[in-house]
Amino acid sequence: MLSFDPEKVSLPVGHYIDGQHAQTQGAPFAVKRPSDGKVFATINEAQPDDVDRAVNSAHQALKTSGWSSCSPRERGRVLRRWADLIEQDSLLAQLESLGSTRPISDVVQHEIPFTAEAIRFYAECADKYSGDLFPTRESSLGMLIPEPYGVIGAITPWNFPLSMASWKCGPALAAGNAVVLKPSELTPFSTVRMAELAVQAGLPAGVLNIVQGSGAVTGSALVKHPLVRKVSFTGSTLTGARIMSDAAQFGMKPVTLELGGKSPQLVFDDAGNIDQLAQRILRGFTANGGQACVAGTRLIVQRGIADPLVERLAALCREVQPGVTWNDQSRYAPLIDERQGNKVCSVIEAAKAQGAEVLVGGERFANTDGGWFWQPTLLSGVAQDNAAVQQEIFGPVLTVQTFDDEEQGLALAAHEIYGLCAGVHTMSLPRALRAMRAIEAGTVWINRYGRSGDFIIPTGGFIGSGIGKDLGRQAFQACQRQKSVLIDF
Ligand code: NAD
Repeated sequence: MLSFDPEKVSLPVGHYIDGQHAQTQGAPFAVKRPSDGKVFATINEAQPDDVDRAVNSAHQALKTSGWSSCSPRERGRVLRRWADLIEQDSLLAQLESLGSTRPISDVVQHEIPFTAEAIRFYAECADKYSGDLFPTRESSLGMLIPEPYGVIGAITPWNFPLSMASWKCGPALAAGNAVVLKPSELTPFSTVRMAELAVQAGLPAGVLNIVQGSGAVTGSALVKHPLVRKVSFTGSTLTGARIMSDAAQFGMKPVTLELGGKSPQLVFDDAGNIDQLAQRILRGFTANGGQACVAGTRLIVQRGIADPLVERLAALCREVQPGVTWNDQSRYAPLIDERQGNKVCSVIEAAKAQGAEVLVGGERFANTDGGWFWQPTLLSGVAQDNAAVQQEIFGPVLTVQTFDDEEQGLALAAHEIYGLCAGVHTMSLPRALRAMRAIEAGTVWINRYGRSGDFIIPTGGFIGSGIGKDLGRQAFQACQRQKSVLIDF
């Protein structure tokens, strides 16, 4: 029985600095439950002084705790213990479900195990990637030594609070850095619990600090702080551009940016079983209520298969039911808040004004008690310049476009701004590989859609979808800088 009473979940205090809960004097901001829009807590925003305290604590902890200089295997041991605690902690699961859009069954089956496994993956990386040796001459030797950066500033969005935190903290901590993390102000609580568990697992106090507040005040102070040596960000393309500019201006800091997407699902006539395809495409654009950077929100389908596929998809959309996240029977996520609801609504209105037809959905579910549950929505009759094709909506809205030949399909799949992911569905391997090469995206899934916890494979976008990679050993190595050493004997 996973259902829980939302009024009985004990909330951690807002910030976590130096292994302790911390209060700040900043203006209070309200935190709402996405399922019913009810304010369930307020937190005082961390001001630049508070961020300074958190970064200094992290900097000091690196100097005194030995975290960066201890054996990488010891770091791995701490991270493995942390992963175990994350999996065992029912409060963590409830905090994630209460404060975010994720139904408790989804949190327990996916978010928590994926978070723990990502940390275990980096525990394993900790001692696997050493430097290099260059015997340049008989009397000299060159070395390339990987070192931690020091304090890494991590900033995450609200859509997958725990796993996003693990993608940032796992590699950074495994590589011997300290992290100051600012989660989204919309979903602040679960990461604080995660940090408490890290200290219980043996992470020295101060090596992972959490500060809460808006991007403009808290996030911006973190990016600009002189002791932050690298910034790892996941969020929108607009914010990513701002962060990159601030990071360049305030210390020429390297950045990893995981940004927005508007990913195509390119389906050829020979893609196989219609029902399986429809299920895959439905999951691709409705998972987490469509609030996933990787959401496959543009169906581009060859004419021969279009009608039966769209018909089946529409039927599946009609079966979706809303339900509060703390009920273990709920499967479908609400939008994060009213603002997001208004955004989804306005893009659909703009799309209709440009000729789009709503095949199914197009509205908020009725009687959902303050929660913004949006009906899975299919839009047809959309030209390539339609707002719903161009903009990242971050809601369960799928545009449907048809094509006759491969060249036309690939032209529709291209996007001017985003290049995060794409799905290609065909039984012809040569065609799949041609499409994979032609599509400008950081990840291409062939005859599947989504990651399902393959941590060994990095993820990251092309063009406006980002710079650098999360996950894989690449993300671990991106948390190290390489020092060249030359020795003459
Ligand atoms: P957002 O850009 O509004 O906010 C993300 C984070 O940045 C928040 O913590 C916010 O407070 C902070 N922030 C905002 N302005 C800032 C500033 N000037 N300086 C420092 N920090 C600042 O994004 P969101 O609405 O929270 O999340 C949704 C977006 O995230 C979507 O575009 C989605 O595609 C993207 N996303 C991308 C990935 C990926 O892996 N590519 C994963 C999840 C979400």
